[in-house]
Amino acid sequence: MRKTKIICTLGPATESPEKLKEMIAAGADIFRLNMSHATHEWVKEIVGRIRRAAAEMKSVTAILMDTQGPAIRTGDLKNKLNLKPGDIFEFTVRGSRSEEQFSTDVNYDGLVDDISVGDTVLVDNGVMHMKVLEKNANRIRCEVLTAGTLGSRRHINLPGVKVNLPPLTEKDLADVELGAELGVDFVALSFCREAADILELKRVLREHGSNARTIAKIEDQNAVKYVSDIIRASDAVMIARGDLGIECAMEELPIIQRRIIKKCVQFGRPVIVATHMLESMIENPLPTRAEITDVANAVYEQADAIMLSGETTVGKYPVDCVKILDRVARRIARSGGAGYAKDAVVDTTRLKTVRSAVTLANSFPNSKIVVFTRRGYMADHASHLRPEGAPIYAFSPSADVVRRLALNWNTHPIQMPFGINPDHTIADAEVELERRGLIAKGDQLIILSDVMAGSERFDSIQLREVI
Ligand code: PGA
Ligand code: MN
Repeated sequence: MRKTKIICTLGPATESPEKLKEMIAAGADIFRLNMSHATHEWVKEIVGRIRRAAAEMKSVTAILMDTQGPAIRTGDLKNKLNLKPGDIFEFTVRGSRSEEQFSTDVNYDGLVDDISVGDTVLVDNGVMHMKVLEKNANRIRCEVLTAGTLGSRRHINLPGVKVNLPPLTEKDLADVELGAELGVDFVALSFCREAADILELKRVLREHGSNARTIAKIEDQNAVKYVSDIIRASDAVMIARGDLGIECAMEELPIIQRRIIKKCVQFGRPVIVATHMLESMIENPLPTRAEITDVANAVYEQADAIMLSGETTVGKYPVDCVKILDRVARRIARSGGAGYAKDAVVDTTRLKTVRSAVTLANSFPNSKIVVFTRRGYMADHASHLRPEGAPIYAFSPSADVVRRLALNWNTHPIQMPFGINPDHTIADAEVELERRGLIAKGDQLIILSDVMAGSERFDSIQLREVI
């Protein structure tokens, strides 16, 4: 069993029903819909396709809707602009016209207020650097520092500038409402800047009757600054290295990644390492050695999941990408892990109970943790405490809970109805695990479940050897 989960962004390269099934067979656990590019019609269609593919493959496959968030973009250009160092470039807002040869409008009027003279503006994923020389009510005058070609609707990054856009734009709110309606399992908030942003997403989801889990994307300096609060406010975290690597000094990125993973393991939140994991495979059938080593590092750090973006949206080898992540993740996990869970905060009775079970599991070579979980929390705890060898088989009667567990490190979720008597439920689960070939004679099962004592339910840990 692979411990690290695989998230694949869907696009033209992977949207067909056949490709979806191939991706599931290769090991995709979660499909991501990037709302920066998706239309509502496409989302409705693809959600149905994913659910049908998962049903056919009998797989637990979750869906992650990723919002665009408060992203700033340049406007439409009739012709691309070739810029060279020393050129003057103007950004305009509120329909203002520029006298300069090179200019474009931006989709956010407040940019003029948020930005200061001397700030750096990075355009098109950090490719073009500009410096702000002066500004007036409707225009920002910049000097081009690095050469580049500017096309339409390019992404603008402003390192260190706090942008006053709301956490969820009008577009995000409409997208989240659709996600709630379609029952997506996870909703990611792009450019989450503080804990309040993720709390707002949670509020909007509840308002629409959704139980989707929230994912805070850490992708700028402000998010890094408040990362502990953001982690605690959210259900899960994504290290969005694409934007983060532009917004922060690049040499800080590996340090930030490690810090976030450590903190997520400490506070018990699933953590995703995203972007550029197999970037060269967009064009090539094999990854670079450096990419393999980057994937191996995330696996070694025991991140819950690793994510593919362009590799599976428009890449030439999407299924091979999943197979390679699968291979590397399996091999590297066998060689050990960082063990950050030794610093996990264990401050509730339930966490203490689960830690005892994990400690017990660690003391046997052939142990398996079997957890019965109605809302998923006991299974979450077991995964967050990163057992050394034992896989976690998580049973729940709820299909929603089972899909949400698809993100958790080393967790194999299985949907099964629970009986009134916990003992019968455990027996059913053992039969199911045997049928699937997941347990063998001599295995030590560490079972976390309810037991009845009279009419009261208690959390319990049992040790049973498979005979
Ligand atoms: P994006 O987020 O793909 O939505 O930009 C991921 C990242 O920035 O790494
Ligand atoms: Mn991003």
